[in-house]
Amino acid sequence: MIKIQRSVCYGKNYDGARGPKGAQQPCCLCGIGIHAPGAYLHLHDGGGFAVTESEAMILSAAGDLGLHPIGPECIRRRPELAPYVVRTPERAR
Ligand SMILES: [Zn+2]
Repeated sequence: MIKIQRSVCYGKNYDGARGPKGAQQPCCLCGIGIHAPGAYLHLHDGGGFAVTESEAMILSAAGDLGLHPIGPECIRRRPELAPYVVRTPERAR
């Protein structure tokens, strides 16, 4: 389990030129639109934490927010999140 924080630019990105358009989904960390998400974070506890799939199984389902897309830029910028990145889109819910 790792504490995560939205970028301070989330709102600006989300509402700006790079925000999600049409069927795009916003990156859960920076708000930039992702055309075809291929990587996700499993968020917990109000979105303040990312958990691994095995951690999610033993944690209270009440705090489970499911998988949220993370963009390639945030994956590159935050190498500490690598163990938490889920790369199987069919598991998204
Ligand atoms: Zn991002």
